[in-house]
Amino acid sequence: MDHSLRPSPSSISSTRVVDVLVPVALNQTYSYRVPRGLELQPGDVVGVPLGPREVVAVVWAENANPDPRLHNRLKDVSEKLDVPPLKAELRALVDWVANYTLSARGMVLRMTLRMGEHLGPERMRLGVRLVGEPPRRLTPARRRLIECLSDGLLHGKSEAAREAGVSVGVIDGLVDEGTLTVEAMPPAPPPPAPDPDHAQPEFSHQQRSAVDAMRALAANGTFHVALLDGVTGSGKTEVYFEAIAETIRRGRQSLILMPEIALTGQFLDRFANRFGVRPLEWHSELTPRIRARNWAAIASGEAPVVVGARSALFMPYANLGLIVVDEEHDQAYKQDEGAHYHARDMAVVRAHIAKIPIVLASATPSIETEVNARKGRYQRVALPSRFGGQHMPHIEAIDLRREAPPRGRFISPRLAEQIGLAVERREQALLFLNRRGYAPLTLCRACGHRFACTICDAWLVDHRFRQRLVCHHCGFSMPRPQVCPHCAAEESLVAVGPGVERLQEEAAALFPNARIMVLSSDLITSIETMRSELTEIAEGRVDIIVGTQLVAKGHHFPRLNLVGVVDADLGLGNGDPRAAERTWQLLNQVIGRAGRDQGRGVGYLQTHQPEHPVMKALVACDREAFYSSEIDGRERAGYPPFGRLASLIVSAGDRPTAEGFARKLAAVAPIDERIQVLGPAEAPLAVIKGRYRFRLLVKSLRNVDMSQYLREWLEAGPKTKGNLKLEVDVDPQSFL
Ligand code: ADP
Ligand code: ZN
Repeated sequence: MDHSLRPSPSSISSTRVVDVLVPVALNQTYSYRVPRGLELQPGDVVGVPLGPREVVAVVWAENANPDPRLHNRLKDVSEKLDVPPLKAELRALVDWVANYTLSARGMVLRMTLRMGEHLGPERMRLGVRLVGEPPRRLTPARRRLIECLSDGLLHGKSEAAREAGVSVGVIDGLVDEGTLTVEAMPPAPPPPAPDPDHAQPEFSHQQRSAVDAMRALAANGTFHVALLDGVTGSGKTEVYFEAIAETIRRGRQSLILMPEIALTGQFLDRFANRFGVRPLEWHSELTPRIRARNWAAIASGEAPVVVGARSALFMPYANLGLIVVDEEHDQAYKQDEGAHYHARDMAVVRAHIAKIPIVLASATPSIETEVNARKGRYQRVALPSRFGGQHMPHIEAIDLRREAPPRGRFISPRLAEQIGLAVERREQALLFLNRRGYAPLTLCRACGHRFACTICDAWLVDHRFRQRLVCHHCGFSMPRPQVCPHCAAEESLVAVGPGVERLQEEAAALFPNARIMVLSSDLITSIETMRSELTEIAEGRVDIIVGTQLVAKGHHFPRLNLVGVVDADLGLGNGDPRAAERTWQLLNQVIGRAGRDQGRGVGYLQTHQPEHPVMKALVACDREAFYSSEIDGRERAGYPPFGRLASLIVSAGDRPTAEGFARKLAAVAPIDERIQVLGPAEAPLAVIKGRYRFRLLVKSLRNVDMSQYLREWLEAGPKTKGNLKLEVDVDPQSFL
C-alpha cells in the first residue's frame, strides 16, 4: 500500500483550504490548508493537528473562498489516510442525525471512525515461537507463557500474551534469553463470502408470499420500508434471509441490526446454516485488532453481510444495499448516552438517504411502526401463524389476590404445580422476572432502616451471588453488613421482594431434582459464556430457567413449553407513557418462547390486575384490541406518533443550581401555540451519581420541526457552566 501521499513536513502549502470535521464535541468544521501535491476530496479521512494533538478527521467540504488574511494562521492537513473516503450518503447521515438530535456533529462523526487500533495498511503482525531451552530462572508468568507455546507453532504475539495472562514484556524477556523467536505472521486470509444459494429452506405456503415480498423489495433496490409482522415462531428470520440472499446476488452489502449482540449466538449459527459462513460482527466487545479488521472489511465492501448492535448503523459501508432491523420495537435501540438517537429511526433515515430498502421485523411492532403500517406508509408483510403448524401459546392469568403464594414466596401454588408437571414431562419451564439480583430492597427489622445508595435516589439491590448490596444506577456497592449501621441490631436485616436469584432459591426448594439455571446480565462474564449457557438450554440440559429480559428475546429453545411470568405488573406502574406498550411487547416476547417446537406452549401471568387492558389482550391473544386501544389513547393524548416529545434534563451537583437553571430555561421558552413546555419537575430518579436532576417535557403537534424549535430556544437561553449539564433527548423513550 502506498504512503507516498504523505507530504514531507517541509512541503509548501497550496492556497487550497478544506473544511474538516473533527470527532470531538463540536458542531462546526475547521479550515486547514492543503499541502501542495496532496489530492483531497470531501469524505477523505485525514490526520490534522488539533491543539497539541493529532486527530483522525474527515474532509467535509472544499472551502472555495478562504479568507486570505487568515491563510497564514491556518494549519496544514498532516496526512491523508489510506482508507476509502466516507461516502456522501454517510456524511449526509451524520449531518442529519446531528441536526435532528441536537448532538454535536463531531460526536456523531466519531461513531463512524471507531476503527480500532490502527488505520491504513495492516501493520505487520508479529508471531512468537518456542525454539530454545527455558532459562534457569522461571517466574510463574514465564512458565505460563512457555506452556502456552509448547506446541512449537507460531502464535500471534499479543494473543499469546493475552492467553498466558502475561505482559508483552515477558515475551520480550524470553526472546532476549533465546527461548523464543519473533517471526512475521502470514496475513490472515480473507473470510469466505456468504453463498446466497448455500441451503435454501422449503417455505410454507404462508411464508412464500412473504418471501416473494422480501425478494421483490431487495430486487427493486430503492427506498422502501417493509414491516415484517410475524408472530413469534413464524420464521421471520428465514424470511428476511431471502432479502439478504437477493442483496448478495446483486453484489451489495446488507446490515442486520440486533438489539443485543450478546444474544446472537444462535442467530450466527442459523445464518451459517443458510449461507455457509457466519456474517461479520460489529459491536463494542470486539478486540481492537478485530475491530480494525472488520472496519476495513466493511469500508472496502469485502464484508457482504454485517450483523451488529446499533453502532453498526454508522459504519462506512462501501455499497450498502439493504438494512434489516430485527426486533424493531426493542428499547435497546435507543442510545441514551452521548448522542441520544434511536437506531431504528435513524436506520430508516439512512435507508432514505441511500435510497435502499429496509425491513423492520417484529412480533410486537412499536406503536409508531404499527401506525405507519396502518397508514400505508410502510408495507405490511404478515406471517400470522407459526411455522410447522405449532400453535401460539395458550395464556392464563393467575390472580394473585386470590391465589397468593405462601408468605415470603413468589411462586403461586398453581404455577408451581404446572412447573412440576412440565419437568416430569421432561419439558423446560421458564420463570421470568425482570429484576436482577436477590431482592430489590433490604431493611432492618429492628429500626426500619432501608439501605439506599449514598449518591443516587435508589435502594440498594441485594446480590447474594456477589455478596454485595449494589446500586443499579451508578454501580456503587458495599458488602451486606452483619449489623444494622443505623441501630446496631444484629442479624436484623431482611430482604424485601424478589429478584431472579431469590426465585432460583425458591425453585430449588420446590424442585430439588431439577436442573436450574439463572440467566441475568450481571451474572454473565462474557459473550462467550452467555452463548454457551444459551446453547446448554437449547440442547435441553436445563429443566428450569430463571431469567430476566435477557431470555425474552429471539431465542429458540425447542424443549421450552411453559413460561411463568412472576410479576406481570412490574412495568405498568411507573407513570411512563409507554408502560402499556412495553409490557405488551415484553410479555408477548417472553411467552412467545414457549411451544415453538413440539407440544402446546402455555404462559401464566401472575398479576394483581387481571382486568388491566394489557393483561386482557394477552389472555385473549387479541393483538388488534391492544393496538387499537393504545393507538386511540396516544391520539387523544397527542403522544407520539400523533404528536412529538422532547425532554430537557438539567442536572447539577446541588439541587438549587439544577432547579434554578431549569426554571430560567423554562422562562425563556419561545412562545408557539403548537408547542407546550411542561415543567420543570424533579425527575422521577431525582438524584443519580450525586447529581440532582430536573426535567422539562416539550410536547408539540406532529408537523412541528421540534429540533429547530429547541435549537432556537437553547441558543437564546442561559448557558450551562460549572458542573451544570443540559441533556437534550428528542423522541425520549425513558422518562426517568
Ligand atoms: P421468529 O423469528 O418469527 O420468532 P424464527 O425465524 O425463529 O421465528 O423461526 C422459528 C423456527 O422455525 C426456527 O427454528 C426456524 O429455523 C424454523 N423455521 C422457520 N421457517 C422455516 C422453514 N421454512 N423451513 C425450516 N425451518 C423453518
Ligand atoms: Zn447509586
